[in-house]
Amino acid sequence: MSADATERTITAADSARARPNPPLCVAPEAIPCQLEAAGDHLARVLGAYTAGRLTREYMAAVLGELVVITRHRMVVQP
Ligand SMILES: [Zn+2]
Repeated sequence: MSADATERTITAADSARARPNPPLCVAPEAIPCQLEAAGDHLARVLGAYTAGRLTREYMAAVLGELVVITRHRMVVQP
């Protein structure tokens, strides 16, 4: 097994998914809230930001793509 197979860059989406998302949904840790196209509830992304796992710039990019903002809003992360 090569080093490339074992090393992986942790993305912002991974950081958001490191936390479960109750009570909004039952997606477990590390699994997207929505599987086709992989996305997460905005509340999960905001929770990761609040916990210091995402940058302000990343949040600005995510929120800049939204037209409507609700707790249940699904975000396909860049
Ligand atoms: Zn969710």
